[in-house]
Amino acid sequence: MSKKIIIFFGPPGSGKGTQAGMLARITDWKKISTGDLFRAEILAGTKIGKVADKYTKVGKLVPDKITLNLVEKSLKQKALGFIFDGFPRNRQQLKDLLVIFKKALKKNDQIYAIEVAVSDKEVKQRLSQRRMCACGKVYHLVYNPPINGGVCDICGAKLFIRNDDKPKVIAHRLKLYHDESKYMLGYWQKQNKLIKIGGEQSIKKIHEEIMEKLKGLKLI
Ligand code: ADP
Ligand code: ADP
Ligand code: ZN
Repeated sequence: MSKKIIIFFGPPGSGKGTQAGMLARITDWKKISTGDLFRAEILAGTKIGKVADKYTKVGKLVPDKITLNLVEKSLKQKALGFIFDGFPRNRQQLKDLLVIFKKALKKNDQIYAIEVAVSDKEVKQRLSQRRMCACGKVYHLVYNPPINGGVCDICGAKLFIRNDDKPKVIAHRLKLYHDESKYMLGYWQKQNKLIKIGGEQSIKKIHEEIMEKLKGLKLI
């Protein structure tokens, strides 16, 4: 069977993590979320975590070498597909990923990028009310609230606000996204591998649209 690679793109807060998680649950493909990987390292207080923390809390990208290392480790998992959330994020990372794919993928394996488009205004609204659980589950106080205020539906742990979801840091992350996204999206567009999704719909609607498009392309 051919392998499937789906790469989610979108500004911080566009809902790519939410959608990547929903798709992973349905397909059993492995989700590789570099943001989640860094947060886990930070929480565990590892050497990588200590370096990553300096960058993530100010909204800067963690150096490419460290990031690539984590991604390569995750790609060793046995799976029929991989879903990327938050990687690649710049030209160097795209270049590195294409080298990996060239070595590891076969001719009939398929790679598609999904752009979840959301305006800066909506992003700011979403991130100001995002709540996280250490288990990786993401909530929104209004659009996707936990059943019991303040604790995770899945594991019962106390929810928290990400330390990079502050207006100044959000502005920096958004700028970084806009600086690089044109090039990255242009690349997949030229390959005829870009799926565009309007991100300002309900979580359920977006999920349905993604499923429909992937079915149309016979990816699922
Ligand atoms: P990203 O991974 O792109 O940073 P998230 O998946 O963490 O984005 O979503 C950002 C915030 O917006 C979260 O609080 C999430 O619950 C909420 N959210 C995600 N998708 C939608 C949507 N379609 N409509 C409204 N809120 C959403
Ligand atoms: P969001 O999409 O909401 O900005 P993520 O959870 O994807 O958040 O990323 C959080 C932070 O983790 C980023 O601001 C950055 O510091 C770091 N990070 C995530 N992915 C990468 C990456 N591919 N390269 C470098 N740093 C990354
Ligand atoms: Zn949880």
